[in-house]
Amino acid sequence: MYLFDLHCDTVVEICREKLGLANNTTQLSIDRLAQDTCWCQCYAIFMPDEYRGQAAIDYFQRHHGYFLRQMEKYQEQICQVVSVKELDKAYACGKFAAMLTVEGGSVLAGDLSRIELLSKLGVKMMTLTWNGENEIGSGNSTDHGLTPFGEEVISEMERNRIVIDVSHLNEAGFWQAAKIAKYPMAASHSNCRAVWDHPRNLRDDQIRYIIQTGGIVGLNFYIGFINGQQNPKPQDLLKHVEHFLELGGENTLALGSDYDGADMPAWLDSVEKVQQLYRLMAFEFGRATTDKIFYDNAYHFFEKYEEAVG
Ligand SMILES: [Zn+2]
Repeated sequence: MYLFDLHCDTVVEICREKLGLANNTTQLSIDRLAQDTCWCQCYAIFMPDEYRGQAAIDYFQRHHGYFLRQMEKYQEQICQVVSVKELDKAYACGKFAAMLTVEGGSVLAGDLSRIELLSKLGVKMMTLTWNGENEIGSGNSTDHGLTPFGEEVISEMERNRIVIDVSHLNEAGFWQAAKIAKYPMAASHSNCRAVWDHPRNLRDDQIRYIIQTGGIVGLNFYIGFINGQQNPKPQDLLKHVEHFLELGGENTLALGSDYDGADMPAWLDSVEKVQQLYRLMAFEFGRATTDKIFYDNAYHFFEKYEEAVG
């Protein structure tokens, strides 16, 4: 099986609970999928909105250190990759691949030079905001967009080959970012607002823009973004997939589970259950399309991005 997941919050969860990457507690644990799975997992370091200055830097370092120690501890099973070329090498060695990402631009502590530093650590993608405000701009719980500093951040991230992740941005910020970005953008974990009207989901014009510009969108498993019910049915999640496909997103949709960051439906609340999701989607949309959503689209997105930014 092939699996490429653009977002999880597992690092912060296991750091808080002092757990390993393989454990019996978290939604995403690396011992629950067969080791021959070609699995690339984006591990986000989630940054709370309110961290500023040195506190933001310390918070990031503590979690990044924990991530590195986990890579060391589980080096037989998983390794960090900094380019898609390294994915196939990891699989050939019988390992899963981990891509490091950041959720929340407070990680920069308002300092543009920290972007280069993140790039050197192998950070591949970063959301500009979380739900609230930071130095870059404001997220989906507010309605104003990017600050002048935030506009500079866009170009500096691209110069350092870090993908702009627009999940959590509000609409004003999204369109501002779209104007400045020279390369395709990602929405790592967002669904369709036309299916379930939540400010964390994307409107059709945003989805069309991402499709037209060669970006990527990760399907989120959080019940609050599926339909707001306690236990949505598979069909309720598939409605989002269907809508993406109707908009022409066959080569744009990927997975962005949000594991360990949110409540999931019972039939999908642990990573091994994605195999059941694969079967459901293959039945509904065909294997070729499902393979694209489960892996190929995300792989090609990063491959093309790396070629484009050089
Ligand atoms: Zn999130």
